[in-house]
Amino acid sequence: MNYILKNWVIFYTKEAIKTLKLVTIGSAIVITVVCIKYKPAYKVTISGETIGFVSNVNKIEKKIDKYMNDTSGNIAFRQISESPEYELKLIARDKEIKDKTVMLAIENRTTTTYKKYAVIYDGEQKAVVENQQEAESIINEVKADLNQEVELKLGIAEVFSTDNIVNSKEEATNTLTQLKVAKVTEYQTKKAEEEKALAAQKRKAFVANQAMSIATTTTVGATGSLNGMALSIPVNGSISSRFGSRGSSRSSMHTGLDISTSLGTGIRPITSGTVVYAGYKGSYGNLVIIDHGNGVQSYYAHCSNIYVSQGQAVDSGTTISAVGSTGNSTGPHLHLEIRIGGSPVNPQNYLY
Ligand SMILES: [Zn+2]
Repeated sequence: MNYILKNWVIFYTKEAIKTLKLVTIGSAIVITVVCIKYKPAYKVTISGETIGFVSNVNKIEKKIDKYMNDTSGNIAFRQISESPEYELKLIARDKEIKDKTVMLAIENRTTTTYKKYAVIYDGEQKAVVENQQEAESIINEVKADLNQEVELKLGIAEVFSTDNIVNSKEEATNTLTQLKVAKVTEYQTKKAEEEKALAAQKRKAFVANQAMSIATTTTVGATGSLNGMALSIPVNGSISSRFGSRGSSRSSMHTGLDISTSLGTGIRPITSGTVVYAGYKGSYGNLVIIDHGNGVQSYYAHCSNIYVSQGQAVDSGTTISAVGSTGNSTGPHLHLEIRIGGSPVNPQNYLY
């Protein structure tokens, strides 16, 4: 019994050793084959998509962290939709294990936001530059020679965007300089117009004063009468030369009343009558003479245009001619002459 048991043990031990040997050899062969064909590596995935293989998770995580937290230059921050995942695998020996491939894939899936500085004019973004100092220096340069009365509403604002496109300092300065020039021109135009309006106002006040002094020296208004005939003024305007005065342009006494107004203004006779002359006459230029009967005639000189002809009957509603500067004249005006019995009389005795 003892002998049988002993033999049995020996037999099985031998078999076990044999099996163990076979298993060991077999495993060695398998491991050798596996080691020849495969290698261990971490598969990196993002949202289930394989982006590469790395040998060291710590190392790649550090690289990714460094990239994601980079705030050099104009970078404000970086975002990636999902974090990478790692899985240890046996991969074919010929498959490449490269951190660079993974980093490129990470970079492609990352959104970088940049911080820039906008120069604001009148609430609108006109240029974008890299940093605040540059924006400030542009504003200072643009404002440097600015007239104090011209207000340029300039400001700086932080801008965040996913592109890193900025204007060069020169471009930004040019853009804003153009805006400044436009503003200055606008200011100068406005000022010139104001001055013009003021001058016109002064002129108007002067004419009004003159009219008032005329009104006080003569008792008749804008209309009057002569020999029982009702008279009316031929044009509205300002009196630039009175009867009897001597101007720089004439040596003899002034035989009429000069009324200045704009070129082309219609002239009406002081009262009804008949045209006895309509044409050019020496220093009178284009002249219309109307006979009112009772030895009274009126002259309308320096006209730019004549609308009536000799023999025509007219009344105070007829436009006989237009204000001009023909003949001996320095500017558009009507020279009104009233003659009684052939002698010029002062129109202001009967008109105004
Ligand atoms: Zn005159």
